[in-house]
Amino acid sequence: MSSSGVGVLLSGGIDSALVVSLVLESHGDTTALFVDYGQPAVAAERKASQAIAAHFGIPWSSVTISGVATAAGEIPGRNDLLIAAATAACSGCSIAIGTHSGSAYKDCSPEHASAWQGLLDVQYAGVVQLLTPLVSLTKDEVVATAIEREIPLELTYSCEASSAPCQECLSCADRRSLLGAA
Ligand SMILES: [Zn+2]
Repeated sequence: MSSSGVGVLLSGGIDSALVVSLVLESHGDTTALFVDYGQPAVAAERKASQAIAAHFGIPWSSVTISGVATAAGEIPGRNDLLIAAATAACSGCSIAIGTHSGSAYKDCSPEHASAWQGLLDVQYAGVVQLLTPLVSLTKDEVVATAIEREIPLELTYSCEASSAPCQECLSCADRRSLLGAA
């Protein structure tokens, strides 16, 4: 990946698919980065991530991390892990992540993103940006924007508990209430 480009953390969900669309428009040179940290739904997420990258015609690459204590729900430090993995995978490119407002998770907050920007500035002297284009949008607004921009929602995968939608986790509940049965 070129160091002037942007690596989008593409888990294969609606949020990160929308980020790809927005970053392609704002920055051009975009690569999808998938992180396999042993999450329970890794197989379905990888498939969705690859399908979305193919839809947008962008390169896709993955990073594997082992030894993470995973579970559905909040994994403290998960986004730190993702951002650090993405930064290491493409030294010098900017990183985009689909954190949005309305989450109680500390690592989805604007404060978390700006603290990370501070770390990246220490390392890269202001060249590498952490882009969080959804940070002020609620989940409802994310979905509305994704529909408006014709993101292929049928390619996305949301369940955080397993590679077949469990219908019980927070992500499954969100998806059901926002998209109906999709
Ligand atoms: Zn689920």
